[in-house]
Amino acid sequence: MTRLFRPAVNAMRGYVPGEQPKPGSPILKLNSNENPYPPSPKAMAALRSLDSERLRRYPDPFAREFCQAVSDALDVPADWVIVGNGSDDLLNLLIRACAEDDTRQVVYPMPTYVLYRTLAEIQSSRAAEVPYADDFRLPLEALVAAAGAVTLIATPNSPSGHCVPIAELRQLAQRLPGILAIDEAYVDFADQTPLALVREFDNVIVLRTLSKGYSLAGLRLGFAIANPSLLSGLFKVKDSYNVDAVAIAVGAAAIRDQAYKNHCVAQIRTARTQLATTLEQLGFTVWPSQTNFLLVRPAGAKAETLYQQLKSQNILVRYFNQPGLDDKLRITIGTGEQNHTLVQAINGLLG
Ligand SMILES: *Cc1c(COP(=O)(O)O)cnc(C)c1O
Repeated sequence: MTRLFRPAVNAMRGYVPGEQPKPGSPILKLNSNENPYPPSPKAMAALRSLDSERLRRYPDPFAREFCQAVSDALDVPADWVIVGNGSDDLLNLLIRACAEDDTRQVVYPMPTYVLYRTLAEIQSSRAAEVPYADDFRLPLEALVAAAGAVTLIATPNSPSGHCVPIAELRQLAQRLPGILAIDEAYVDFADQTPLALVREFDNVIVLRTLSKGYSLAGLRLGFAIANPSLLSGLFKVKDSYNVDAVAIAVGAAAIRDQAYKNHCVAQIRTARTQLATTLEQLGFTVWPSQTNFLLVRPAGAKAETLYQQLKSQNILVRYFNQPGLDDKLRITIGTGEQNHTLVQAINGLLG
């Protein structure tokens, strides 16, 4: 049926998300970086008390209630915020608005979030992939030389877990001809944020999500912060009602409850240190992480074998069958108890 599709669609492979087992199955799911704690009780209360009138009518196309909540929580002007159906939606908008063919290419360092490539492929735009150094130093000069219409930097990055220094992001913002998109999906678990760059540079956009820090991956809600002149192009491209009324109400309550989010994040950060120490004691190489996952190289077993063995014990972690990553696993930080279960299983398998 290839004749039905554009050549670019025939040529692409399509994004493959982490496995999503049925809810209620007895699987310890440490493969998609979901938060192990429930969403804020205030967010759940907002869900329960939602007025039916809000579902009868179309939602606010600009999700202003949520933008105001972001403004209050993060101290940015409400009209510097755009809201999306997950930050994936915002990445999609950005690439649709800015990239096409070979002349307006999408640029990013590798390895990183695999969706960037998929979105560039859908858009029939060239994706220039610039390898990170082995120690995950940013290939700054090569990124500048690639002169992207959109340059995407995930920081903290997945699957490496590292943060790109703010000084290097500032240099990129200064020297790039196009947009610098900083994907901060994991910022809630990090020590630093380059968010202030959006005030310094009108070509910088910072993307965030409620999927990781706020335990709301199922809600599908992300947002981005940038100068309104940058946002204006994205508003033209987005679906009118790209965020539903439930997400707006629940998301606003969640982001207003910073105390609850910070409490969950503190537990995950503590557990992150503990799990890293334990795995290092087992001989694993563990990369320093500013996220809610660890990138590790197992000792005494091939990464793929260990992934399969854990899976057969109902523990899912992420294995990437690609050069540079195929000797490593990415493991989401769970609760203390879940991490203990994981360590027990690894101990059992590796003796
Ligand atoms: C999880 C993730 C996202 C996607 O977040 P959603 O808001 O759930 O779409 C974006 N970027 C990176 C790097 C991620 O890991």
